[in-house]
Amino acid sequence: MAAHESTGSWITLATDGSLVVPDHPYIGFIEGDGVGPDIWAATRPVVEKAVDKCYAGRRRIHWVELAAGEKSHRDSGQWLPETTLELLRRCVVAIKGPMTTPVGEGIRSLNVALRQLLDLYACVRPVRYIAGVPSPVKHPEKVSMVVFRENTEDVYAGIEWPAGSDEAARVADFLRDSFGVELFPDSAIGIKPMSRFGTERLVRRAIQYAIDHGLPSVTLVHKGNIMKYTEGAFRGWGYELAASEFGDLTLSEAELLEKHGGVKPGGRVVIKDRIADSMFQQALLRPDEYSVLATPNLNGDYLSDALAAQVGGLGMAPGANIGDACAVFEATHGTAPKYAGLDRINPGSLILSSVMMLDHLRWAEAARCIEKALEKTILDGIVTYDLARQMKGAHEVKCSEFAAALVDRMDAP
Ligand code: NAP
Repeated sequence: MAAHESTGSWITLATDGSLVVPDHPYIGFIEGDGVGPDIWAATRPVVEKAVDKCYAGRRRIHWVELAAGEKSHRDSGQWLPETTLELLRRCVVAIKGPMTTPVGEGIRSLNVALRQLLDLYACVRPVRYIAGVPSPVKHPEKVSMVVFRENTEDVYAGIEWPAGSDEAARVADFLRDSFGVELFPDSAIGIKPMSRFGTERLVRRAIQYAIDHGLPSVTLVHKGNIMKYTEGAFRGWGYELAASEFGDLTLSEAELLEKHGGVKPGGRVVIKDRIADSMFQQALLRPDEYSVLATPNLNGDYLSDALAAQVGGLGMAPGANIGDACAVFEATHGTAPKYAGLDRINPGSLILSSVMMLDHLRWAEAARCIEKALEKTILDGIVTYDLARQMKGAHEVKCSEFAAALVDRMDAP
């Protein structure tokens, strides 16, 4: 019997868009490729133990396995079956491992396809230091940011043609004939669309998050000095949205200085903007001046990995892809093929993504239970290879052993 035929109930959406979560919800999972099965096998018992411990049987997750990626292609010849998309929409909430994307050939990215087909327009990546994790910077505890990365537009939209193709030649002809733009004849061509609609819904979510969590600022990260009508517009639309929809709850950096002498009034979120290259150095030099970042797709991709490096690397970097109708939680990293099936990789990324998922369900007790046990495990020096190689006296364990140590610590007083 498939999991979804067991005795759970479906999560639904209320008319205001909020989740209605039954005590026994169906939740979708995609194991993923490469190290996906390793980190999923480690994460699932951690989530089940936390839910069991916190709700003593009153609440339980009914997992629904969804076919996608290499496993699905082997079984059915399909990378992303239509039934998976239908079930994802039905589940409303899902968690997934990474999926392989061949560079420069073959199938387009399944991850990007999933985000676009389900309109998961906000990629949310919290970056926070966990005590005991080794870091290459002196004060990793100063890093506490949540990246809201636009997920459906920008150069990621998949509008591009290879060098030498008929399509690239036609686009080049059009650019020359209509706009006098000359390209090198062997150019590949990609298009970078960015809309007011796409920007506004992303920035709206970022500001609402800052308000809901009492965070001091939202920074719009862009490269608008060069790409004025795309990245520059992202900045402009972001400020306009803040003023029109959150006028009483936000203020700009200029207003902060001019009207409040640089001292932030309580209950207000400061909206600022930084050019992307400058943001990278700010993230290293003055990370405590930033809390929520709202970024276009490509900037956010680079920034979230760079920030993750400051707090322990990709092994500790969780994420979520969220739309109005569905949310899919996933680690920030990829399939790390050289570690696939070795039971070696750090499952912390997917475990922390499950914490985000439990918070999304408003099962905060279970989320905090996992966080506490994770921190305790690391403080006890029990870590996977990636952290062990940066720590003195660490006890290096396998992926599954790390999860087991974490589960043990949930029972500790
Ligand atoms: P990657 O899979 O993220 O791995 C790069 C390196 O990051 C690893 O070799 C490892 O470094 C470190 N790392 C990643 N995950 C880790 C973990 N859980 N614990 C500890 N260290 C970890 O990047 P990639 O090799 O560039 O990409 C491989 C494939 O994944 C590509 O097909 C790519 O397109 C795809 N991808 C998928 C997603 C997704 O599904 N959302 C996201 C990104 C990439 P060390 O070797 O130094 O230990």
